[in-house]
Amino acid sequence: MSFTPQQIRELINEDHEHCCDGYGPDQICVRIVAIAELPSRFGQFHVVAFYNNKDGKEHAALVHGDVLGAEHVPVRIHSECLTGDVFGSLRCDCRDQLETALRTIGQMENGILLYLRQEGRGIGFINKIRAYSLQDHGLDTVDANLALGFRDDEREYWIAAHMLDSLRVRYIRLMTNNPRKIEELKRYGIRVSERIPLVIPPNPYNEFYLKTKALRSGHWIDPNGKRHLEEQIDRPLIEGMNHNLLEQEEG
Ligand SMILES: [Zn+2]
Ligand SMILES: [Zn+2]
Repeated sequence: MSFTPQQIRELINEDHEHCCDGYGPDQICVRIVAIAELPSRFGQFHVVAFYNNKDGKEHAALVHGDVLGAEHVPVRIHSECLTGDVFGSLRCDCRDQLETALRTIGQMENGILLYLRQEGRGIGFINKIRAYSLQDHGLDTVDANLALGFRDDEREYWIAAHMLDSLRVRYIRLMTNNPRKIEELKRYGIRVSERIPLVIPPNPYNEFYLKTKALRSGHWIDPNGKRHLEEQIDRPLIEGMNHNLLEQEEG
């Protein structure tokens, strides 16, 4: 089990009074408010509900195994994607990344998935669907972004750092295909000892789609030649993929 009943009481009691200057430019401070068991198809987890003092976004952590004060804890940071995570959209690979991360963590000794409620990397659900609609009508992702105005790629790292602090975890292995994320977390006091690549096992239905995104990440073009919003920052690594091809593309 992730937490003993006593640990849960202590975490919640200690966080009840927690108030700090906050992390990042918006000075967000989060508090653990509730913790419950969450057995899932991916393994045994506890779900941790966070309150924050700024924008009402209720972030979550899924915790597997013993993590309090532990070192080298595997951590995945996932940004909410309603269309992908819940509806199974193939416009992005968020659900593949989420499921692979949970399955991997569920089989490890311990680990944490931070689920950040920032749809479309912070632009919100309505704006994301607006962007999709613009793309449906032929705008490329650059024009769609311009039409929308704002993106915020920094946000997730400092909230994530505070959430890890709240969970008494300051020394992690980050599950990501994006080395830049590690630098960002370090800026907020989280020590990252290692990067664990997130390798997605493809199925016959999404294999071509995933490879297309992997090869075209950044200015991602789907199999039909349309450009899309890049939602999760990570470039997908696909099991069995030809990595020479990927490296050529990067160079
Ligand atoms: Zn705080
Ligand atoms: Zn998505």
